[in-house]
Amino acid sequence: MPTIIDGKKISQELKDDLKVKVAQYKEQGIEICLAVIQVGEDKASSVYVRNKKRACEYIGVKSLSYELPETTTEKELLDLVKELNERDDVNGILVQLPLPKHIDEDKVIETIDPKKDVDGFHPMSVGALSIGKKGFISCTPYGIIELLERTGVEMDGKECVIVGRSNIVGKPMAMLMLRQNATVTVTHSHTKNLKEVCKRADILIVAIGKKEFITADYVKEGAVVIDVGIHRDDNNKLYGDVKYDEVAAHASAITPVPGGVGPMTIAMLMKNCVNAVEIQDLKGNK
Ligand code: NDP
Repeated sequence: MPTIIDGKKISQELKDDLKVKVAQYKEQGIEICLAVIQVGEDKASSVYVRNKKRACEYIGVKSLSYELPETTTEKELLDLVKELNERDDVNGILVQLPLPKHIDEDKVIETIDPKKDVDGFHPMSVGALSIGKKGFISCTPYGIIELLERTGVEMDGKECVIVGRSNIVGKPMAMLMLRQNATVTVTHSHTKNLKEVCKRADILIVAIGKKEFITADYVKEGAVVIDVGIHRDDNNKLYGDVKYDEVAAHASAITPVPGGVGPMTIAMLMKNCVNAVEIQDLKGNK
């Protein structure tokens, strides 16, 4: 039987650790504040935003909420981001994606002060990650490292294969695994012999966005398998990018869907909010 990597439990442990840290900062006179901006009323976005605000409340981070109408212009949104950049009492700025089509997402991300970029999407944050400098790290791949570390998976010197090269998962994941001294291969839709490449992996991380694509014949006996995918069928049942039952029989450890990588994303956003204290070099008043 493989170890089932319990993201729900690990994310709870992490949030509890962060709660203690936030309380310590408060004692030093440092209050952390996250500004959350949502444009329009996309249902899924509203759920994410609500969960993010709840997580802030749980760990003791103050949250400011900006719910803007769908008709908000790009300039109005950029002006709000600039105003929040200037405010000393705001440590993190999160603009919930996707944005309405008339707003250029890249422009908005690039307007956020990299020192407040708690999603880790700003080109400066991505650059800092690649060269090993201090900065915010994209929450999903950052959460995978936390899962592996807290499960006691050795990464140093291991063969890690990542399926997918998106800017928010695959690429930052590769940088993070390099930092852990893994030997990293990143695969994508042009990769030849994907099965053979995946079979080399001691740690296989799958973010391909295709329901149950990875079957047992892609997986080496005893590999650790991390499934980033999320797919919902008509009955609201969730599936990953990995065919779980079949692959679990060959893995030494595996993340389930739901309850694996998913719960880590918001917990890591909270970790980024707490990391803001160091990134901004905040000093308490006590
Ligand atoms: P993208 O669609 O942006 O990227 C998918 C990647 O998979 C691309 O790099 C693509 O290659 C590659 N790919 C597609 N088909 C193949 C193939 N046949 N063989 C090899 N590679 C292939 O997806 P994301 O990274 O944004 O997300 C991936 C999955 O993770 C989705 O299911 C998404 O819902 C989920 N997700 C979950 C999160 C969580 O919190 N748990 C957070 C973010 C995403 P190419 O570049 O060549 O097109």
